[in-house]
Amino acid sequence: MKPDALKLLIESGNPVISLETADELRGERVVRAAAEQLGLPLFEWSVTDGLRKMTPQLSQHLVPPNKVVQALTYVKDAKDPAVFLFKDVGAHCKDPQVVRILRDLYYKPDSRVWTLVLLEGIGLPPEVRRLTVPFDIGWPDYAELDEVVRQTFTNARLRSLRKIEAHLNKRQFEQLVQSLRGLTTEEAARVVSAAIHDDDVLDAADLPKIIDAKRNRLGTLGCLETIIADFNPEDIGGLHNLKRWLGLRRGGFSTKAREFGLDPPRGILLLGVQGCGKSLCAKVVAAGWNMPLLRMDPGVMYQKFVGESEARLREALGQAESMAPAVLWIDEIEKAFASAHSPSADGGLSQRMFGTLLSWMQDHRHPIFLIATANNISQLPPELMRKGRFDEVFFVDLPSDQDRRGIFSIHLERRRRDPAQFDLTALAAAAEGFTGAEIEEAVVTGLYAAFSNNADCGTEHVLEAIRQTQPLSVLMHEDVQQLRTWAQGRCVPAD
Ligand code: ATP
Repeated sequence: MKPDALKLLIESGNPVISLETADELRGERVVRAAAEQLGLPLFEWSVTDGLRKMTPQLSQHLVPPNKVVQALTYVKDAKDPAVFLFKDVGAHCKDPQVVRILRDLYYKPDSRVWTLVLLEGIGLPPEVRRLTVPFDIGWPDYAELDEVVRQTFTNARLRSLRKIEAHLNKRQFEQLVQSLRGLTTEEAARVVSAAIHDDDVLDAADLPKIIDAKRNRLGTLGCLETIIADFNPEDIGGLHNLKRWLGLRRGGFSTKAREFGLDPPRGILLLGVQGCGKSLCAKVVAAGWNMPLLRMDPGVMYQKFVGESEARLREALGQAESMAPAVLWIDEIEKAFASAHSPSADGGLSQRMFGTLLSWMQDHRHPIFLIATANNISQLPPELMRKGRFDEVFFVDLPSDQDRRGIFSIHLERRRRDPAQFDLTALAAAAEGFTGAEIEEAVVTGLYAAFSNNADCGTEHVLEAIRQTQPLSVLMHEDVQQLRTWAQGRCVPAD
């Protein structure tokens, strides 16, 4: 909540403040909190309730319903310091008397001691907005959404005749709260309530449902997707350097870091061979930093929204801002902006899109960590690599022998096998040149082979799968080699 900022506007003597928000309840709460903290009496007006002084005992009608001009005149004549909260005055602004009296309020001499706050769901006409100081309450922050979830759960418990339960560990609860970012408090409460009531339990299975509901609510732009990221750094084999770098910046968005004199981290570019875990890294960062992971597919913007691509990109970036703190993952960035260096290719569209992205990266002040992944450097516009765009550019190479052992362990364990029962040295040696994805595939194929033979899976099954695989590093030897040579000296090794 932001009562402090509103308090300041009231204290500095602004006569009319406008608060335009879709979240009316939250708007009311902010105004009430500011009035209370300033020790000022609060009067509220709506077309249905008229003007009332809000006291703990509530309220006698000072002006009956429907009489907006009379209510505004009451404000104009008020002699004592007070805050007046008027809802939906915009709907009455077709009446010249209303506009006149708002002007009078605005131009009233300095003897004025009250403040008028216009709380608007739909919006004020521009000629009236000009008379006001706009106050943006922003989106509910983490603490408010945390409270919404707890309150909605308590209400559900009190109201339901059935037993309502919650099964969420701390991390899942935090993810749930994070996933509500970008919704108003009312919308968040509705989404959580629906998730509780479908099976009387609030648990991890509700996370995807909540994210889906939210996506529907926000309108599917088709270019920003919320990804569930339930991974740990231990789920990635190798990439020690990158993990260390990310670990160091974990608290980088906190106020403590600001006070310490640190700038918040902005983002990284991950270049590398396909299937070596770049996408996995984006998921691990989001999970480890407790932020929602938003995946942007700029390619979709070209294909799906012909003629609107730039607007869609801006809209998607705005949406990411409304959900901050967040990790914004741009997958295969080279595909989206491939022709940015040659304006003729698409009439300059990707160049303009790329420009929009670059200036956003430079200028935005939101706690958004950008992870861009790319497989093909030859298509990347050189401006993207310029110093200062990303905090660091990492190259994710094929895993080393040691890392391949680790990756085999991870995937065997994930499929309920004890790695100690396997000859990891032999597996790692046989899988030289394999990517993490290919190692995973070999484990899966080995398990299938064992399953169809009614046997338990052993080293031999996986070795056989390895022997039957032609790894990418062989199939695309030149490309991989070229990528490695290019990365040397230009990128920081992820491992
Ligand atoms: P692409 O460019 O094709 O998207 P990528 O580099 O982003 O590839 P991922 O999508 O992260 O690779 O990898 C695919 C899958 O392979 C992962 O979900 C994971 O299961 C497995 N994998 C890849 N690298 C590793 C690794 N280092 N440790 C553990 N698993 C890995």
